[in-house]
Amino acid sequence: MEKIINYINGEYCEPLSEEWIDNYNPSKGEVFGVIANSNEADVEKAYRAAKEAYPAWSNSTIEERSRVLLKIASLIEVNLERLAKAESEDNGKPLSLARSVDIPRASANFRFFGNAITQFASEAHESVGLNTINFTLRQPIGVVGCISPWNLPLYLFTWKVAPAIAAGNTVVAKPSEVTPKTAFLLGEILSKAGLPKGVLNIVHGTGPTAGQAIVAHPKIKAISFTGGTKTGEHIARTAAPMFKKLSLELGGKNPNLIFADCDYETMLDVTVRSSFANQGQICLCGSRIFVERSIYEQFREDFVARVRELKVGDPFDDSTRIGALVSEPHMEKVLSYIELAKEEGGKVLCGGNRVTVPGLENGYYLQPAVIEVYDDQCRVNQEEIFGPVVTIMPFDTEEEALQMANSVRYGLSSTIWTSNIDRTMRISKKIEAGIVWVNTWLNRDLRTPFGGVKASGVGREGGFEALRFFTEPKNVCIKYSE
Ligand code: NAD
Repeated sequence: MEKIINYINGEYCEPLSEEWIDNYNPSKGEVFGVIANSNEADVEKAYRAAKEAYPAWSNSTIEERSRVLLKIASLIEVNLERLAKAESEDNGKPLSLARSVDIPRASANFRFFGNAITQFASEAHESVGLNTINFTLRQPIGVVGCISPWNLPLYLFTWKVAPAIAAGNTVVAKPSEVTPKTAFLLGEILSKAGLPKGVLNIVHGTGPTAGQAIVAHPKIKAISFTGGTKTGEHIARTAAPMFKKLSLELGGKNPNLIFADCDYETMLDVTVRSSFANQGQICLCGSRIFVERSIYEQFREDFVARVRELKVGDPFDDSTRIGALVSEPHMEKVLSYIELAKEEGGKVLCGGNRVTVPGLENGYYLQPAVIEVYDDQCRVNQEEIFGPVVTIMPFDTEEEALQMANSVRYGLSSTIWTSNIDRTMRISKKIEAGIVWVNTWLNRDLRTPFGGVKASGVGREGGFEALRFFTEPKNVCIKYSE
């Protein structure tokens, strides 16, 4: 049995709790290992290591930090195949996706922030006449906490820890207990790259115990969290009385607005991907599709035909497009929404049933589902399902499309398909989302701000926004005489 243990102070160690949780392989529906079920004492141990490491790391030169981050990036590349297999086994995602997206992006995160820190500058303001000059010191915060979800495990874990350490902080981090394996393997890479011990400590365990202990720790001064909106609310409530700095990247229910004047074939290709990539378990998937009525019938027919062609199967088979859902409870949740859709009067145009994959009969496979809905306020259209399920619905006017796009509690990303630049600008300004993609999807430049509005979160990651989050600005005002 594989054992996933903590990485604290540069060493792998068993949890002080001496407790374990089962780790499931979702493609087989079998337990294939155990994970440390760390408790408050383990988090305290990780905190102490991080505290000890902080003075030296925060005073290390930018070049030194950059060098280590770039080295970690290269070692992730060297280990690409091994990490991709681990990610696919742990999460159920197609190996082809882990190999082409998840792991390369984890490496890119370290490379990006290893370079970005060398360009990170602060402001100076000279007050002519008053003979003062103000400048801003951007100092690391101290020991910070990073907590990440299961859908893009190493990708999102590194998206937080890389800027945190680049900026000179030391970290107590917790990956999702559902998919801990690649973060576990990262420990080896950190040691090999020469990251000083204690700079990044990785604690495994559940949200309510290990996660809560990080958020509630009085000396951990900032929390960068990605996960569900409900968890985000809880974290905000716990952290607020201690005035912690918080970055919350939460759920989404993203609209995909398709106008008749778009490039139809490109839109169709990308919409299949934006609906079902990673089994629809990407916070940026466009799960509500609104189509201009003049092309609605055509779209419905073509889209459903394309979705039916998506091969559901073994994540390790290169021809698989849809792998397993991450866990049995998650699969049950998604199936319950398919039932709800029917109860609410929606029409399941395709998919929505469990699939039996030969040789992997207990795996958590679902046919991707397209549901036609008649009221954009129905629950299936309002609540985050986070699985291979999209709704489709026609609209008549741009105003109506925008109004439906905005009438959810979430506001993470949005996609618009049109060749009309004026419309692009009108909608981009009015749509309630942190990210707007026009005639594309999931096109990410790591320098850009990333995050959501409304119930999709608070704060932005990406580029200098992340380095600003992980530093505390301090204004210094100097008076001089002529
Ligand atoms: P989750 O909220 O259940 O868990 C996320 C992480 O938080 C896990 O590591 C978990 O152990 C931890 N956690 C749970 N309870 C905690 C607590 N009380 N205190 C501290 N930590 C706690 O989310 P999930 O099911 O792992 O991920 C799916 C969700 O993540 C979806 O809602 C999805 O939209 C969201 N997500 C958002 C983004 C984004 O960038 N906005 C990206 C990916 C996923």
